[in-house]
Amino acid sequence: MCGIISYVGRKKAGPIIFAGLRRLEYRGYDSAGIVTVDKGKFHRVRSVGNIDALSKKLGKKELKGSYGIGHTRWATHGGVTLENAHPHYGEDGEVAVAHNGIIENYRELKEKYLKNHTFKSQTDTEVLAHLIEKFAKEMSLKKAVEKVLALVTGTYGLAVVSVKEPNKLIVARLGSPLAIGIGEKEYFVASDATPILPYTREIIYLDDQEYAEITLDGCQIYKLNQGKVAKESQTIDWSAEEAQKEGFEHFMLKEIHDQPKVIQDAFRGRLREKIGSSYMGGFNMTDKQAREIDRIVLLACGTASYACMVGEYVFERLAKIPTDFEVGSEFRYRNPILDEKTLVFSVSQSGETLDTLVSQREAKRKGANVRGLVNVVGSTIAREADGGTYIHAGPELSVASSKAFTNMVTVLIMYALYFGRLHDLSFEDGLKIIEEFKKLPQKMESILKEAPKIKKLAQKYSKYKNFLYLGRGINFPIALEGSHKLKELSYIHSEAYPAGEMKHGANALLASDFPVVAIATKNDLYDKMESNLQEVKARKSPILAIATKGDKKIQKTVSDVIYIPKTIEILEPILNVIPLQLFAYYVSVDLKRNIDQPRNLAKSVTVE
Ligand code: GLU
Repeated sequence: MCGIISYVGRKKAGPIIFAGLRRLEYRGYDSAGIVTVDKGKFHRVRSVGNIDALSKKLGKKELKGSYGIGHTRWATHGGVTLENAHPHYGEDGEVAVAHNGIIENYRELKEKYLKNHTFKSQTDTEVLAHLIEKFAKEMSLKKAVEKVLALVTGTYGLAVVSVKEPNKLIVARLGSPLAIGIGEKEYFVASDATPILPYTREIIYLDDQEYAEITLDGCQIYKLNQGKVAKESQTIDWSAEEAQKEGFEHFMLKEIHDQPKVIQDAFRGRLREKIGSSYMGGFNMTDKQAREIDRIVLLACGTASYACMVGEYVFERLAKIPTDFEVGSEFRYRNPILDEKTLVFSVSQSGETLDTLVSQREAKRKGANVRGLVNVVGSTIAREADGGTYIHAGPELSVASSKAFTNMVTVLIMYALYFGRLHDLSFEDGLKIIEEFKKLPQKMESILKEAPKIKKLAQKYSKYKNFLYLGRGINFPIALEGSHKLKELSYIHSEAYPAGEMKHGANALLASDFPVVAIATKNDLYDKMESNLQEVKARKSPILAIATKGDKKIQKTVSDVIYIPKTIEILEPILNVIPLQLFAYYVSVDLKRNIDQPRNLAKSVTVE
């Protein structure tokens, strides 16, 4: 998820890798490390914290050697500690590995191949290092990596060096990006082109399942199970800033486009087809204890609170457990009634949101079971909770959240599925949800392909000064989140209403200069929504609808439609939010707003 930079050539690798890590800092990370190789010996420095901390740690020492690897870590498995920082060694210290991503079956691999090994870290990555080293005792490093990759399920951007095979890098990609920079008898490998650009603009981007053997004499690329592939390099004319955003204009847009990938990181290894349920590693509650839970409270602020509102619907629907969502800044000042049968989830991207954290402490004090649901590993909410789940959205740099939201919703739905299956949700119904989950990434991709159309619509609507978002049932929170995104990014006033409430007051606002964005997908409430929109139309408000592909009828009522693929109702929020994110983004681009850092807002709200 974070950053890799590797070098092989004739220059000193240490300073090049250091400089590369600095250029990767923008990706977000919690610890860093470098290993270089000289005369058959590793030289390694690692530290928790930023690159300055790494530099301090190194002091005046020199990392000798002309090849090596560097890594910035965004912890997924194991806390943010020195032992868990990369690069990791094999058991005999002959192989070093830096890895971005998640190895889903690391426990099984450990169990099957590395029974007598002792591990120094809690990471999934160290298992790879041990396994590659073990195999490399009987075959070349390249063959050993190949063999390990064939056994692995999960995602990786991988860089491997060995003391036994000098001046050689083996790198591989599945899911986590890797670019190879081609210089004069020197090569650079990095998670994106940013750290490579000062040296060369000739770049080969690895595709999924490709790996490369790189020496001073050349770079040979292979595809898993297929052998050699010939790939041409491209000459990149991006600036470093463009390269950071992988060619997207803003981090916000990049992160919106990250969603089909990172949602897979959220459900990877957590869905259990065999029992039609899900399993969250860090939940720390037995099925028996979980069955005793008779109330759920979801705590969060801002975007995370809308994810919790979706959670409220889903828990009640699937698990039939009374569930309330509470905004952290209110909850902490009430005198909430909680007991040991209450399960509280604190939901926060940063894991540092103060209002949520303080509420979590209050819930703990009252004897409730508290679980964290955060993105940043080792954050305060995660540490203080009695367990919980990382949402694995990867670093989110844009202040306005997108991918963290979809992953929060995903994890909450997986929890609801788990609780549902402990109560009266059938195996068939559970399995159906899992099957539909797995189809989401592709459906998300197809919505992202509509971006040019959404951009045009946004340009048409950006002139309005007020907006109203409408949804019903499980899509009401999505109307709130869509409206929230528009406010945050464009500074346009907007509100969200459950569509059925309009007649109780908000209808008075409707007029031709007051557009309505409506979520009108085909579900149980579609007919009701459709008649609400008739009323809106009669009052002359322009209507932009999010509708299900194939629904021609809606065109008669609304001014514009964005079509999205069909899914089951409880998963609709995950798809429906995407066009609303894109709409808010493009309206704001049209208004020339400061997209990644909207005025008056901060990414992590650690004040009251
Ligand atoms: N899963 C690995 C870890 O937790 C790699 C995380 C990353 O992508 O930085 O160490």
